[in-house]
Amino acid sequence: MRKCGRTLVAVLERLISEIRPGIRTDELDTIMAEEAERRGVIPSFKNYRGFPANLCVSINDEIVHGIPGERRLEAGDIVSLDAGVTLDGFCTDAAVTVGVGQISEEAEKLISVTQGALKAAVAQARCGARVCDISSAIQRHVESNGLSVVREYTGHGVGRDLHEEPQIPNFVVGKGLKLRKGMTLAIEPMVNAGDWRTRVAANKWTVLTADGSLSAHFEHTVAVTGNGAEILA
Ligand code: MG
Repeated sequence: MRKCGRTLVAVLERLISEIRPGIRTDELDTIMAEEAERRGVIPSFKNYRGFPANLCVSINDEIVHGIPGERRLEAGDIVSLDAGVTLDGFCTDAAVTVGVGQISEEAEKLISVTQGALKAAVAQARCGARVCDISSAIQRHVESNGLSVVREYTGHGVGRDLHEEPQIPNFVVGKGLKLRKGMTLAIEPMVNAGDWRTRVAANKWTVLTADGSLSAHFEHTVAVTGNGAEILA
């Protein structure tokens, strides 16, 4: 999983370097496919439960599961890239939100708070802690900054499959499982500038904020070790 994760990070870095006004989101999808093939990994999302692309590209009020297509990025947009790759039967999963050209102060804050929430959450992913410690770190960081966490979509275990137990909510709901050494988790705060509620687009995939506010998404795959969390991707 380490090698799988390192490869995913390299693929995501390439994608981030391609973000600019005017690029079509399906061009990013093609780059994802080419870069994965070149590095000997398989994009995990393609055909997963029928998802039609290699990569999720979610723009502005799109939270997750945006399908790449003819839409072009514009200056001032924020874009979330979510990707998973499989190597030797193991998956890793990671996401990042970046600005396209100059972005608003509101968007800058949203991105930095979401990134901060992920950092706070990863610090809780240690032996003996519970899933709720991760959830609580995310919720507190986000809400203390006046933003809201998405509730209908969660982080998850990851390893042999892209989505495994346990679910890792981004808000506190019960205590959850106790974390043990060797567990591998995808921790992924999704944060809205406005209300936490969501809606699903007519394509039945893309999840958007119900109120049209901006949303950001960061995700790491981590391993719980005897000494805190190791970020794999
Ligand atoms: Mg995930």
